[in-house]
Amino acid sequence: MRILVIGAGVIGLTSALRLQQAGHTVEIAARDLPEATTSSVAGAVWEPYAVEPMDKATAWGQAAFDMFKELSEDSWYTGVVMRDVWQENPGNAPAPEWAAALVDFKLRDGYYTFTAPVIETPILLRYLQGQFEEHGGQITRNTFASLDDAFAYWEMTFGATGSADEPCVVVNCTGLGSRELVEDNAMYAGKGQIVRVVDPTFAFALMGANGPGENPTYIIPRLTNIVLGGIFDAESEDLTPDPNIRTDILHRCAHLALFKDQRFAMSLARLAGDDFAASFAERVDPQYRETPAATLADNPDACGLRPCRSEVRLERVELAPGRVVVHNYGHGGGGVTLSWGCADEVVRLLG
Ligand SMILES: Cc1cc2nc3c(=O)[nH]c(=O)nc-3n(C[C@H](O)[C@H](O)[C@H](O)COP(=O)(O)OP(=O)(O)OC[C@H]3O[C@@H](n4cnc5c(N)ncnc54)[C@H](O)[C@@H]3O)c2cc1C
Repeated sequence: MRILVIGAGVIGLTSALRLQQAGHTVEIAARDLPEATTSSVAGAVWEPYAVEPMDKATAWGQAAFDMFKELSEDSWYTGVVMRDVWQENPGNAPAPEWAAALVDFKLRDGYYTFTAPVIETPILLRYLQGQFEEHGGQITRNTFASLDDAFAYWEMTFGATGSADEPCVVVNCTGLGSRELVEDNAMYAGKGQIVRVVDPTFAFALMGANGPGENPTYIIPRLTNIVLGGIFDAESEDLTPDPNIRTDILHRCAHLALFKDQRFAMSLARLAGDDFAASFAERVDPQYRETPAATLADNPDACGLRPCRSEVRLERVELAPGRVVVHNYGHGGGGVTLSWGCADEVVRLLG
């Protein structure tokens, strides 16, 4: 088949690659190139977060886990490393559904731990784009106002007219863009903000507990920097990083890191400002009190809009004879985590 994938985030790129590997001819067209997508802002730790339906997410997540584990064998090329993850678990709740597939998942007092892929998404996206292009694919920039537009683009790109024998096939991986593209009113933006710092030794991924309506707190050590987060704001779509939110993230992350590494925690507290550092110093052993501020990474602050929906939309729709669309969007806070599993399903739906 000849297939047009719309969208060049992690969902579009993994779908396109898997379709190529299944023997299809694939082109990608997207409003934004990979480095300018939400996917490029993601942390990203493998953990299904703010994404439904959980039974399917567990299966998609497992497939992606296995693929990322393989990619971690070539970390500098793919951006994937395996890390020990410590997730706060106040009240010692039972293991989440998705834990079943993890071989080293452990319930501890107040935490659960497991080993999982951590992904430096700008590196991963470059790798995926490289793989796609190496296999003959091309990414072009184009914004579609409707699926009709996309079908017309398919006909122009492949120089053919869709028919029952060879339908126009469009795979819609536009994330939040589906709100307009297919007028999906179930889509909404879950805004996130992160701060990136550099620390050569801290290597644990730490995930704070957050109840409904609370901001998530997390520390994700990647290959070249550490992502500190975060927020979940469904009210604003302003992508300008807010300095007050940065300070709040540093406060929360300093507290989160304290049980694992007092030096690193103190370095975050110092970065948050002298007043906070002075009071935080009382919580660390004397030898860590003068720890200098953590180093900010280049271009440290970023915001992104998670493409949220009550559940992921992953389905094939025959719109008219010779016109097929597969929707693959609405991955909320877990698009990286589910990516390869959803891409495999796109291939099955077109099989
Ligand atoms: C701060 C933050 C932290 C996160 N952390 C994690 C994490 O730790 N783990 C995890 O799994 N996930 C995480 N996520 C979520 C993850 O980033 C998303 O689920 C994922 O990036 C969605 O990928 P996507 O390809 O669907 O969307 P996007 O990356 O937004 O890509 C959409 C593509 O579609 C294109 N497009 C849109 N509309 C149109 C149109 N009309 N015409 C043409 N092209 C169009 C865009 O230009 C873009 O190329 C995080 C998100 C944020 C913001």
